[in-house]
Amino acid sequence: MSIELAMSRRDLLKRSVVAGITGMGAFTFSAPLLASTGLLLPANYANQADAAAFWAKPRVLNLYRPSTGEHKQICYWRDGHLDLAGYREACHMLRDVRAGKATEIDLRLLNLLRGQQGWLELAYGFKEPYQVNSGYRTKETNEATEGAARDSYHTKGQACDGKFPSLPIEYQGRLMSAFRTGGVGFYINRQKFIHSDVGRVRYWVR
Ligand SMILES: [Zn+2]
Repeated sequence: MSIELAMSRRDLLKRSVVAGITGMGAFTFSAPLLASTGLLLPANYANQADAAAFWAKPRVLNLYRPSTGEHKQICYWRDGHLDLAGYREACHMLRDVRAGKATEIDLRLLNLLRGQQGWLELAYGFKEPYQVNSGYRTKETNEATEGAARDSYHTKGQACDGKFPSLPIEYQGRLMSAFRTGGVGFYINRQKFIHSDVGRVRYWVR
């Protein structure tokens, strides 16, 4: 399977500079303990120095695709720079499995996933891989996806559906929401997963 990466490293870096979540704004949401789960949201990271230290560290994603059985630890950013090989790997992991196609995933989305995973690791030593149900979707796959929006952020490489199977779904949605990076869909009734994207900030529950 090949991946087309027309974008140069410099362009990617430029894109990352404007990416909101690479900045300090990532951890500014202050919310108390979620009574139902006993799990905390990242209010502690409202502290700018802590947030800066967090984002300065290598950004590693631990991802699992149940549909293919792939499981990978991917470092897509280190020493203040994009790791192009790692970035490509992340794009591959978030590819459209049905169509066998990958795209350039928005760095803000990777950072959002990293923020979520990094928080759980820091706060709880939680190391479970994130289960990716759907990342990038071709238009065809998107049309074939039940309930998908026509112009879904999935088709732009800007959305991911997934979950940590052992954590309460509602908590995971609140955690994604805490980053205030884009849309968060809570799919809590039939299928259990969280949609997160780096589009307009909005929330919905299905
Ligand atoms: Zn979605």
